Amino acid sequence: MKSQNFKIFIAFILIINFLMLLGCDSKYPEQNVKEVDTAKQTDTILTKQKSSINIVEQQQKSSVHQKKEVQKSSADLKEQALESFVHITEQDNKLIGSAFLLNTFCEITLYDENNENNNDLIYDTFELCRNYENQLSCKITDSEISQLNARQINEVSDSTVNLLYEALKYSKLSDGALDITIGSVTDLWDFTSDSKTVPSPGNMQKALKTVNYQKVQINDNQVSFSNPRTKIDLGAIAKGYIADQMKAYLIEQGVKSAIINLGGNVLCIGTKADNAGFTIAIQKPFEEGYVVAVHLDNFYQSVVTSGIYERFFEKDGNFYHHILNPETGMPVNNNLASVTIISEESTSGDALSTACFVLGLDKGMELIDSLDNVHAIFLDLDGNLYYSENLLEELQIDIL
Ligand code: ADP
Ligand code: MG
Repeated sequence: MKSQNFKIFIAFILIINFLMLLGCDSKYPEQNVKEVDTAKQTDTILTKQKSSINIVEQQQKSSVHQKKEVQKSSADLKEQALESFVHITEQDNKLIGSAFLLNTFCEITLYDENNENNNDLIYDTFELCRNYENQLSCKITDSEISQLNARQINEVSDSTVNLLYEALKYSKLSDGALDITIGSVTDLWDFTSDSKTVPSPGNMQKALKTVNYQKVQINDNQVSFSNPRTKIDLGAIAKGYIADQMKAYLIEQGVKSAIINLGGNVLCIGTKADNAGFTIAIQKPFEEGYVVAVHLDNFYQSVVTSGIYERFFEKDGNFYHHILNPETGMPVNNNLASVTIISEESTSGDALSTACFVLGLDKGMELIDSLDNVHAIFLDLDGNLYYSENLLEELQIDIL
């Protein structure tokens, strides 16, 4: 992407974020007006909105700038008391907790009234999220995954094994388009700081030799690698898995109506008090507004988007984003802007959104159409939308 285009792109992103923070809902069709009006910010969740009360308060700053500022402190959050960085507010009979975890803005919205323990519930659910992050992130040095990658341990907990199995299942299903052994390659990139590092071809070639999900063997809780330098990165699936665990915990605690939003990885519980399903709008990546709103029911509760506009940098007139082709180690360049997966659970949604992005429109759609109970919306860089088979019959959507 040329430098000039990139500047326009950045300007759009900033405008979009700003407008989203203001709650620019005017384009919604008639039947949604009431819902959006009463909500203004959170009844309609934007899948890539970095929405939180904190952000609304700081809307003068650019979202990119905010993100960097918060990221600086995120490493310190590991042991910190949750009360010091989880922000809870009450709004129109709902309780919203927001926090910066998983290197992104996270939000829990509880719609259940009459529960005096709701504040504690939000803290406990974020604690669960943080514990999983400390266990699964390859960016945290003493996580199980980092210790496994450093070959300091070879036995991991049940939940890590379960997620590894799940991730390997999707690596296989996508024929390696999603490949969790991409760790040595992602180590060469840094999409979260100002460093704008483009890996050297030599380093990339060395790293690529370690990438192959078939190099991982699991036996009970023992994990071994046939290549000594193979490293695991669960970044493409962990948020979905953690969202599912947070949902299970909230349900166990009696919650009937809630939304978990982990940086745009959105997972709902039940419906709102009036029995209306939740509505999730998908952001337009390159210009102001939203592309489409999806009305969820009691089954389809997860909406996950992978897009090129989430983590990126520009260097020497080139645009680099964080979804990588495991064969080249470079950002996928296939005219897709985003892939949204609508499913029952978020683990599959997260894995499939990344996998389908890498597979591209034709193969990605073929994969989705071969699966039961999963729908997808692909958006290309020209603004065209593509729906998986039966989506329009099974789900109600509004083109915006
Ligand atoms: P996000 O984390 O922004 O929601 P994704 O779910 O698409 O986006 O995951 C992207 C992350 O997954 C990257 O930051 C990187 O850690 C990892 N990743 C990138 N490309 C691949 C790939 N082809 N296979 C597996 N993991 C990948
Ligand atoms: Mg993903």
